Amino acid sequence: MIEVSLENKSNNNLLNEKQITEVINILEKEYKGATCGLDYNNVFELLVALILAAQCTDLRVNKIRPILFNRFKNVYEMAKAEPKEISKIIHSCGFYNNKTKNILGASNIIVSKYNGKVPGNMQDLTTLPGIGRKSANIILQECFNVSVGIAVDTHVSRISKRLGLTTSTNPIIIERDLMEKLEKNLWNKINHILVCHGRAICDAKKPKCDKCMVNHICKYYNN
Ligand code: SF4
Repeated sequence: MIEVSLENKSNNNLLNEKQITEVINILEKEYKGATCGLDYNNVFELLVALILAAQCTDLRVNKIRPILFNRFKNVYEMAKAEPKEISKIIHSCGFYNNKTKNILGASNIIVSKYNGKVPGNMQDLTTLPGIGRKSANIILQECFNVSVGIAVDTHVSRISKRLGLTTSTNPIIIERDLMEKLEKNLWNKINHILVCHGRAICDAKKPKCDKCMVNHICKYYNN
């Protein structure tokens, strides 16, 4: 009896399997066709867009990326670019000095170590400056059709915890929890779905819980 009650207590903030299925079905239907918010024409453009997107909106990155690639057409031109010229173009994305260093650093490694081709595996991708596990997951899923994990960004972290898909705030643990709970065919989609939900309803500061289509299940709303 004691074991059961402790078990119940520890899982109090987590959805059960049936609730997870219901939440995912509702959100999938609501955000049907949700895709990556960053525009790109090839894998290198996506990689650069992801570097630019740190602490910046997809909307702004989508405006700046074509200007940058109009000036530096491919990884070889980017690798030889003057830092000042890149910084000037990407200035409005914020943290432009660091982002310039990362774009140049990643481009040079891709040229020198990978014959100008963005590597298609987690280990190599995460050695590139400015590319962490989240961005690598997006690159692999979007451009290589490979799912080895789930991209956990600020929306995915916040909403997974609120809903009751995880109790953690650590992106690595959140990713592990989601991977355990969700079918592999959802690993790519879940990021797009939760990003859309975060933007439309589950705002960081003022979630519109009264209008939320999953409020009857959500742990944050019902606790
Ligand atoms: S009920 Fe509120 S906190 Fe829960 S998912 Fe919906 S908007 Fe977010």
